[in-house]
Amino acid sequence: MLIKSSVNIYDKLSILANGAKYDVSCASSGVMRKSSKNQIGRTSKFGICHSWSSDGRCISLLKILLTNFCINDCAYCINRKRNDIRRILLLPEELAKITYEFYRRNYIEGLFLSSGIIDNPEKTMEMMIKTVILLRVKYGFNGYIHLKLIPDASEATVLEAIKWADRVSINLELPSKKSLQYLAPDKKMESILRTMDFVKSTINTLREKRDFYNSKGGQSTQLIIGATPDSDFEILKLASFLYKKNKLKRVYYSAYVPVNDDFRLPSIKKPPLLRENRLYQADWLIRLYGFKVEEICSENKPFLEESIDPKLSWALNNLDFFPLDIYKASMDELLRVPGIGLTSAKRIIKMRKVTNIDLTSLKKMGVVINRAKYFITFKGNSLEGKRLYDKPLEIKRLISQKNSNQYSLPYL
Ligand code: SF4
Repeated sequence: MLIKSSVNIYDKLSILANGAKYDVSCASSGVMRKSSKNQIGRTSKFGICHSWSSDGRCISLLKILLTNFCINDCAYCINRKRNDIRRILLLPEELAKITYEFYRRNYIEGLFLSSGIIDNPEKTMEMMIKTVILLRVKYGFNGYIHLKLIPDASEATVLEAIKWADRVSINLELPSKKSLQYLAPDKKMESILRTMDFVKSTINTLREKRDFYNSKGGQSTQLIIGATPDSDFEILKLASFLYKKNKLKRVYYSAYVPVNDDFRLPSIKKPPLLRENRLYQADWLIRLYGFKVEEICSENKPFLEESIDPKLSWALNNLDFFPLDIYKASMDELLRVPGIGLTSAKRIIKMRKVTNIDLTSLKKMGVVINRAKYFITFKGNSLEGKRLYDKPLEIKRLISQKNSNQYSLPYL
């Protein structure tokens, strides 16, 4: 396989960073590390250097592929082997050095490293790990590193990846075995799930021994939304399964972006970004608010409503659960109220023990009154929405009027 030596490093960077932009599983949330002696840098739990690409996605820099060579032929991927594109490989030393230089100049706060498969999964994974070890050991790099695992790499190399990175992830890409077989026949769901199992048990073992780079390390995955007929119900069931069984930190949803002509792919004018956002909101409810997938959608109603967020949708379909009294409702109940989030629910529980709560104080606690007022009472006294407790369509109309931002996250 020939790599042109005449290609300069910035051309390589531009091609390989462009090739990585469709992978959204890159957030660094939850990782906080201070700088230490003999090392440079730190990470912030609010995420590494985020940016917005032209199609509206949040991207983290330096987010890059080691190579866009690939032996696989996934229908939805710009780097698939049948595409006639310029192929580039960054050698581990080149990539480590450029990451270090960018980091030193404060351009980036970390590295998100993914790759096409060059020759075979093992060789590719080894080159990625070599890059990370060079960064950590030779350059003393203490920044955030998210390393993408290559399906079918050996357990020994996966173990090394876990030891050196803050987070690892392996992309399932498609939510069902059938869809994978159809669009990405080189990938096997069993093999990817096996790797996730291995990562989970390895992280547990290493955590007990305190024998890896970041004791808060974890794994995540990405699912492409809208390239196949898989429903939101199937997608959320899979996500919920992965959170429970494999203790994933996050499942990322990526609206399908058409980049290839292929009869197997749907013909769409623009990526389904609103659907992607609704899935993130539903995911939030499942991970943090105690909702079950079946409460949000079902086999009979397999797709989320697009016109309103899933929490409001649930509330309108369960009006007999309301109104809840702000002085009596439990934490779990408060979290079911549209307009009340985790922080505001905690504040309500704390404040109601020591003081009276009214609309103004609720607002100060972060409650979105225009959403919550139809679902709550104060010591039995209703708000202006009392007459609407049995009129879901009217509540929906009034809330939608005031809330023109469909894309809020995290939301209440
Ligand atoms: S394995 Fe990854 S890089 Fe290769 S074609 Fe499939 S999605 Fe693209």
